[in-house]
Amino acid sequence: MKGFIHSFQSLGATDGPGIRFVVFMQGCNLRCGCCHNPDTWECGVGSEFTPEEIAEKVERYKTYFGKDGGITVSGGEPLLQAGFVYELFRLCRKMGINTCLDTSGSIINDDVLRLLSECDRVLLDIKYTDEESYKRYVGCSLSKPLEFLELLQQRNIPTWLRQVTIPALNDDEENIRRLRDIAKAHSCVEKVELLPFRKICKSKYDNMGIEFPFEKYDVPSQSVMKRLNEIIK
Ligand code: SF4
Repeated sequence: MKGFIHSFQSLGATDGPGIRFVVFMQGCNLRCGCCHNPDTWECGVGSEFTPEEIAEKVERYKTYFGKDGGITVSGGEPLLQAGFVYELFRLCRKMGINTCLDTSGSIINDDVLRLLSECDRVLLDIKYTDEESYKRYVGCSLSKPLEFLELLQQRNIPTWLRQVTIPALNDDEENIRRLRDIAKAHSCVEKVELLPFRKICKSKYDNMGIEFPFEKYDVPSQSVMKRLNEIIK
């Protein structure tokens, strides 16, 4: 079995707890306007690796992981290659390495359900809290990540909800309160992370010769982030 991989980050500190080896999978089924990894969108391209080859790479960093760290598989959308990620996580867990999945939660099938049985933690993106924005700026229904969250709740998988804060689109208190209510209604949610929208990915869009759809939006100020984080708490 082989998976299509975009890239690796050997000592990541922003995708889950502790120090983590991050695997960015190639391929995504969505087209979020705020996406900072458009180079991961295309399916069926990228470098090919077996789960064993990646598990071996991850093992080399085991001493850095401490008690909280481990492997995070991100993307792109890892659920498009759920069978591959299942096998990779199974191998990592056998070696005592903590597994974390970073996903948009937009795909549910038998492979995905099997993958969840090998996840120690899930980082679930809930990009907006209203249906209209989800359809318009993500390309799927809000019901998709919410359905996925129900699965995490049923399986009691520790979950972090993540949202990129974009001025004028989701930096209003109403959205943040709705996000807080979603978190409160699910005991599997350990944490809600608000990540400030950034535009450093613009050069990737330029290199690909496509328009960065959210170039026109501002980045949020520190004071706005502080205020919204206070509401979430
Ligand atoms: S799900 Fe992630 S990788 Fe896919 S388009 Fe959205 S932000 Fe980009």
